[in-house]
Amino acid sequence: MIIGIPKEIKNNESRVGMTPAGVLELTHKGHEVFVQSGAGVGSGFTDEDYLKVGAQILDTIAEVYGMSEMIVKVKEPIREEYKLIKKGQIVFTYFHFASSEPLTRAMIESQAVCIAYETVEDEERTLPLLTPMSEVAGRMAIQQGAKYLEKPVKGRGVLLGGVPGVPPGRVLVLGAGTVGIQAAKMAAGLGAHVTVLDVNMKRLRYVNDVMPPHVVTEFSNEYNIRKHIKSHDLIVGGVLIKGAKAPKLITRDMLKSMTPGTVIVDVAVDQGGCVETSKPTTHEDPVFIIDDVVHYCVANMPGAVPYTSTLALTNVTLPYVLSLAEKGWEKACSEDASLQKGLNIVHGEVVYEEILETFGPLE
Ligand code: NAD
Repeated sequence: MIIGIPKEIKNNESRVGMTPAGVLELTHKGHEVFVQSGAGVGSGFTDEDYLKVGAQILDTIAEVYGMSEMIVKVKEPIREEYKLIKKGQIVFTYFHFASSEPLTRAMIESQAVCIAYETVEDEERTLPLLTPMSEVAGRMAIQQGAKYLEKPVKGRGVLLGGVPGVPPGRVLVLGAGTVGIQAAKMAAGLGAHVTVLDVNMKRLRYVNDVMPPHVVTEFSNEYNIRKHIKSHDLIVGGVLIKGAKAPKLITRDMLKSMTPGTVIVDVAVDQGGCVETSKPTTHEDPVFIIDDVVHYCVANMPGAVPYTSTLALTNVTLPYVLSLAEKGWEKACSEDASLQKGLNIVHGEVVYEEILETFGPLE
């Protein structure tokens, strides 16, 4: 198959759809790979790196779309790309259709085969192509939180690890899923005292089993949340209710009970946030302050570490890319229930229930 890797043109997106290591796997299997010149630069890969593993470099995005049977990328196509997508072309990327009717309509019109990373679902009902981004965001939450706890950026002035003779900082993690576990692990590694809350006892048992004793678990309810927000320096929001907006676990009135300079990193902001006062921010302007509480609410945290994120993404997408390239989309999807769940729009027809529920019938 002929596979195209365009340069991402969405604002501030430095990731790329495939690493040179992934391209090597494809070219070894006899596939042709076209990479747009400069596509990997933001993630630290040069055109030369791709040439060495057998890719061909094309100058323009139009050539990459024009010559490829399958496009592998990171973000949803933006307006400039709509007209480049061809009838019957496979487009494998994050789409998040439910959040954009214009994108949905454009992809229906294109007659392409749109397979969305975010809806690929394995037997355990987890989302394997979203997991690595949650891992990145969970780990980053502590890095960012530690930075914004510093006084010059209006934080409490607390060093998470403490020093001999001074107790460590206290980190409260809401949700013991992928984001929460990674955040708890990083905070524990720095020596902070960590409290993890969840409503799922299985998750709490797991945290209790694998984490050191300075990571403690408690059931998530309003009483415990009100109690802990007063005594913790950094709060990480990592809750998710599948297919729904995040529950508002910290309400506006609760902020007043927190110590001035407390930092909230609301990772769940992409689902509306689990803090009532959260609103999405960007890497250029990541924080705002309400009632002396610092809010960090960047909606695409992994975008700040494109090298790590690109590697993590290719690790999980590559087996599906190889299967699609070997078998074509129909056979690959019919033989693999996980990939089948990724099918969202096929030859102008919406085949993913949630999109229909969101927009109703689309012509
Ligand atoms: P996950 O499903 O692995 O974990 C969510 C956890 O929240 C589960 O353990 C669930 O039991 C728990 N939960 C549900 N209701 C709760 C409550 N009332 N109190 C406490 N815990 C509760 O999800 P995840 O992969 O860890 O993702 C978490 C959020 O982070 C999602 O909204 C995801 O979209 C978001 N995310 C954001 C970024 C970003 O850049 N901002 C990046 C990746 C993921």
